[in-house]
Amino acid sequence: MPVNDDERFMCEALKEAWKAFQAKEVPVGAVLVFQGRIIARGYNQVEMLRDATAHAEMLCLTAAEGALESWRLKDTTLYCTLEPCCMCAGALFLTRVPHLVWGAPDVRHGANGSWIDVFEKQHPTHVLSIRSGILQEYCAALMKDFFQARRREKASEGQLEES
Ligand SMILES: [Zn+2]
Repeated sequence: MPVNDDERFMCEALKEAWKAFQAKEVPVGAVLVFQGRIIARGYNQVEMLRDATAHAEMLCLTAAEGALESWRLKDTTLYCTLEPCCMCAGALFLTRVPHLVWGAPDVRHGANGSWIDVFEKQHPTHVLSIRSGILQEYCAALMKDFFQARRREKASEGQLEES
């Protein structure tokens, strides 16, 4: 049960992640909040768009730029279910998003400490606050379920590969 804004908005990001799950995409979702309202949403569409850059965060940021009619996403908070990768972390700096809230760590691509930490060094002009581990167990469970399901499918097709 959500008890605060971070959890409430992370629930919305989880709904986006669930859309990805249902589309057989790695289940990552994101929402962008401006003045207490969600103005953009996104979920991972790498497979559907055959585009390795079609991460939930990227699609959400692009949608937000459209909604605000500006590439400067001032006074916004990006909620994403997974620790952002380098690309998405870079996009947060470029779009000037001041607040980031993420759910589960990503040991492979996480750019906030799990693999590397691109936020470790103070940016010369942009300050970004981060809260992590919000609804972590739900965000992580969705990922775990997804990869277990994919492995079961591959096994039943007799083509289980080392991952
Ligand atoms: Zn990313």
